[in-house]
Amino acid sequence: MNSQERVIELLITGYSHDGKGVGRYAGKPVFVAGALRGELVRVEFGRERKGIINGQLLEIIEAAPERVTPVCSVFSSCGGCQLQHLDYQAQLQMKREIVSNALQRIGGFKDIDVHLTLGMAEPWAYRNKGHFRVSKAEGNISLGFYEEASHKQVQESCRHLFSQAVVELLDSLPDLLEQHQVPIASDVDAGIRHIMVRESSSRGEILMVLILSEPLNYDFSAIAREICKNNPRVVGVCTNINPRKAGPILGRDIEIVYGKGELLDTIGPYTFRISPHSFFQVNNHQTEVLYSKALEYAALKGEELVVDAYCGIGTISLYLANQAKKVIGVEVVAEAIQDAEENARLNKVSNVEFIQGEAEKVLPELVEKGLQPQVVVVDPPRKGCGQPLLDSILQVKPERLVYVSCNPATLARDLKHLATGGYQVQEVQPVDMFPQTGHVECCVLMSRVKD
Ligand code: SAH
Repeated sequence: MNSQERVIELLITGYSHDGKGVGRYAGKPVFVAGALRGELVRVEFGRERKGIINGQLLEIIEAAPERVTPVCSVFSSCGGCQLQHLDYQAQLQMKREIVSNALQRIGGFKDIDVHLTLGMAEPWAYRNKGHFRVSKAEGNISLGFYEEASHKQVQESCRHLFSQAVVELLDSLPDLLEQHQVPIASDVDAGIRHIMVRESSSRGEILMVLILSEPLNYDFSAIAREICKNNPRVVGVCTNINPRKAGPILGRDIEIVYGKGELLDTIGPYTFRISPHSFFQVNNHQTEVLYSKALEYAALKGEELVVDAYCGIGTISLYLANQAKKVIGVEVVAEAIQDAEENARLNKVSNVEFIQGEAEKVLPELVEKGLQPQVVVVDPPRKGCGQPLLDSILQVKPERLVYVSCNPATLARDLKHLATGGYQVQEVQPVDMFPQTGHVECCVLMSRVKD
């Protein structure tokens, strides 16, 4: 490509797995964030990597009818949301298509009817957890996100995906941190680097974790008390130390400075204890929709032994236990297992057992010892299920498998493997857990058709 060709007009003909517009130039796909199918756009090419070209959107020459004005003022630079420029019903349609394409292209499945994505009536202010980068420039403290693919911070914390109470709390923090002269981390100085906020949607309670770059000689009790006094919804302020700049935001130990170190929240009829380290779905309303689907697909009659692999704090396990003989949950994070056990007690559910360990090791061991589940539920992280787990499912041959996935690509890969071992995809239901973003959640039912 010569330099005159760096800016071209491109017709967008489809979508990538994360909601970018895709057009073709000289036979190669060009990915354009912010462009919609059917649009004619002017783009500037970035560098080509592995045959993939990312184009930067310069101008929309002809707009698609589904294009809407993004609600957020920093939408184009923030990177937290990818789809605010697309009408919500069209977002739901796009997510259905992303799942369908992945099943076809990666899974090799033809003619699978993917159900319409189950969306929200009010697709805003749904996030119950967020982390924000704290920084100080020219004496001013700010809380914000990183611009996508760069290290420049967007000087505004998110206002549209969180509740009003969380937004107000975040707004009040820079002044408070200033007044209390709290050290802020920089390339050279130690201090606060991130703030994590978790909110219990059902109770309105908020837990805050101040994440420090290293142990500080600073007493946080005064600011913690003031935060809780000014914002009665904040029930606890904790600190955590994480020297690593990349990777997970939270380091190991959580120390309570004031109030509580955990939250209680409710999904459907169940109450859950949530520790800062434990995974909990970020959108309570849609989680209930998702779990109800998982329960429906499990089609339990009360006699089944069920395995819930990647069970987190035991949410799906408890949802299923009421209609099963017994549920065994498997999860790698020790705190999550403690939460799961506490949650079973809290909800007076006794026919569950939780095992800490990697699902890829634990399930094969259980199968080796003769465990014979009739239903297996998996809800793995983005990288999908490890092969040993899938192989032990094929070995033990449960009647039904419910696969909850946050990544259509690994979902399709894993379903393909299971299909070669006698399972057939029966239902595919995308659920919009992350409105305005390109993320897609999905619940799939597979059943055994061959031995
Ligand atoms: N089903 C739960 C959690 C799903 S998220 C819910 O809906 O809330 C995926 C979970 O898998 C996380 O809790 C994560 O800690 C856990 N996990 C990640 N890798 C794992 C592995 N190899 N074995 C078991 N659990 C794992």
